Amino acid sequence: MSDTLERQAQRATAEFMEGVRARNPGQPEFHQAVSEVVDWLMPFILENPRYQENALLERLTEPDRSYTFRVAWEDDKGGVHVNRGWRVQMSNAIGPYKGGLRFHPSVTLGTLKFLAFEQVFKNALTTLPMGGGKGGSNFDPKGKSDREVMRFCQSFMTALYPYIGEDVDVPAGDIGVGGREVSYLFGQYKRITERWAGVMTGKGLSFGGSPIRTEATGYGTVYFVEEMLKERGDSAAGKTALVSGSGNVAIYCVEKLLHLGSKVVTVSEYDGFLHIPDGFTEEHLEYLKDLKEVRRGRLTEMAEKFSGASYVEGQKPWGVKADLAFPCATQNEIVGDEAKLLVDNGIIAVAEGANMPTNLDGIHIFLNSKVLYGPGKAANAGGVAVSGLEQTQNAQRLMWTREEVDARLHDIMKKIHAQCVQYGHDGNGYVNYVKGANVGGFAKVADAVLSCGIM
Ligand code: NDP
Repeated sequence: MSDTLERQAQRATAEFMEGVRARNPGQPEFHQAVSEVVDWLMPFILENPRYQENALLERLTEPDRSYTFRVAWEDDKGGVHVNRGWRVQMSNAIGPYKGGLRFHPSVTLGTLKFLAFEQVFKNALTTLPMGGGKGGSNFDPKGKSDREVMRFCQSFMTALYPYIGEDVDVPAGDIGVGGREVSYLFGQYKRITERWAGVMTGKGLSFGGSPIRTEATGYGTVYFVEEMLKERGDSAAGKTALVSGSGNVAIYCVEKLLHLGSKVVTVSEYDGFLHIPDGFTEEHLEYLKDLKEVRRGRLTEMAEKFSGASYVEGQKPWGVKADLAFPCATQNEIVGDEAKLLVDNGIIAVAEGANMPTNLDGIHIFLNSKVLYGPGKAANAGGVAVSGLEQTQNAQRLMWTREEVDARLHDIMKKIHAQCVQYGHDGNGYVNYVKGANVGGFAKVADAVLSCGIM
């Protein structure tokens, strides 16, 4: 990039971000997500004036619409509680809105706008016709009985159902929304509308779910890292890996790493991490699945049960020496100093199973150190890709085999990787996957928006 173009891009970015912050006060995560994208896009936009002349960035950072609603529900003792629910429909330029629902006390409209914005570009990269959206609530499913979760989900869907549909907007799971919640939400949609429609993905296999959807995000993230390593003539076999989180994405990331012969030494939860220096075995993994998916227990239990395992309270896993890192918990879990620690310890590749787990300082540290860094919108797109395949199966009234879906997932992750290389190669052998993913996703969505006229 020439000096003049770089300076012009910096000025235009600063000016644009000032407007974003003024229009969206009190939404720091949304500002962060937009800033990460615009930083890499601006030179491309300046070189392609049709995008600027048609205010594409302004249009893509303003949701098509956002719904806010009250969710009142009754606990097991008859107490009445009120939470807030949202659905952000960001862009349906290339297909019906698609993106998960998050139930976590930290959720705000700003969190969901950041996630919906990321989702638009991620979905475009999958090569499937899906727009971007995201929703959720500040409800905390932790410590609630099954019946309480059911009543909450029924109340949430009663407010949401007019705004979704199989050709309109198709929600799925995210943090705090797994198979149990998706099933309750889907059941209530069916009950109110009196029709069976593929309006949620992540459903149970006996009622319209897709094989591999549960595993898709974790598996896809590992497929993506394999592609990044392959680009350098390397592979994940025999490499030591750090995984954070111990939910859906983390569990199946660990599983696929074990299939490939990697040594996984950590998983984590909100207040600490489990360290197994000799590496996870299949026995550890089966125990973890039962602990987290069925009993909803704590990792401290595993540290007590298995010799050689320990629980490190109040810390994240990033200080442990390893070759590969898979942040799979939540946003901003790798901040600048932690990225530096990983680099100092010789990390080779970082692939984000979570959305925006690395902050802007951390991203620059990885890129400046030439670490292979796979941002979430590329590396974790396998989940929404298989959700897209679930929609296709529902529309066809068919169910594909596990092998078929896994093969399609693998193929999609390779295509995402190829787009990142196409747009992110620096010409000197290093691929900037952040630039590649942002420019690749943007180009597809922006051209669709342009074609449909000014709206
Ligand atoms: P789960 O609810 O299954 O698991 C979340 C995990 O992250 C848990 O281990 C949880 O720990 C931990 N966690 C959550 N919030 C925090 C926090 N504030 N601080 C530290 N740890 C935290 O969610 P998923 O596995 O589905 O989602 C994980 C990430 O992956 C999210 O960023 C999500 O947006 C992203 N993602 C998920 C997809 C999917 O298909 N599920 C698709 C693409 C991206 P604890 O249990 O102790 O709270």
